[in-house]
Amino acid sequence: MNKAVFIDRDGVVNSDEGHYYVYRVEDFVFNPDIEMALSLLKKAGFKTILVTNQGGVAKGEYDMEEVQLLHNYMQAQLEKYGAQFNAIYVCPHHHSVSVCDCRKPKPGMIYQGIRDLNIDPRKSFLIGDADRDIQAGQAAGLRACFKVKKNSSILAQVEHIISISDKA
Ligand SMILES: [Mg+2]
Ligand SMILES: [Zn+2]
Repeated sequence: MNKAVFIDRDGVVNSDEGHYYVYRVEDFVFNPDIEMALSLLKKAGFKTILVTNQGGVAKGEYDMEEVQLLHNYMQAQLEKYGAQFNAIYVCPHHHSVSVCDCRKPKPGMIYQGIRDLNIDPRKSFLIGDADRDIQAGQAAGLRACFKVKKNSSILAQVEHIISISDKA
C-alpha cells in the first residue's frame, strides 16, 4: 500500500487573497515554497493528492471545464519541479444547491483517493487551511492533519511529516 498527503487547494497551494472563487489562470498565484514542498513529499515516497471544494460550480459561477483548464495549468507549472499532483479530486457541489458525499468536511474525496491509489490512511496525512479540511481528514482516519495559516509556506509542516514518517 502507498502513503499519501492530501492537500487542500485554495489558501494552501495557491493564494485565495482577494478572490472568493479562483477559477481563472490569471488569478492563480502559487503560495511560497509550494513547488519545493510538493517535490520533497514525492521524493520521500508520498503520493500527493489534491482535494478541493469548488462550490462555485454548483452555484453557476464557473464550470468544470474551467476548473479542468486551471488544473492543467497548475500541473504543467508544478511538473517543471517534479511536483505535480498524483491525483486531483474536485467537489463541484454546494449544500445550497444539493447534498453530496464529497464536499469537505465529508471525507468522500479522500476515500476516493484511498481507493484509486491504494493508500493506507494510517500512514497518510492532510494539510489544509480550514477546519472542514481537518474534519474531512479525521473522518477518513488519516494519521494526522495539519491546519496551516492561509497563503503561507507549508514547508515546515511537510518537513515535519517526512521526519515522523521515517520513524514509523
Ligand atoms: Mg482552503
Ligand atoms: Zn460534492
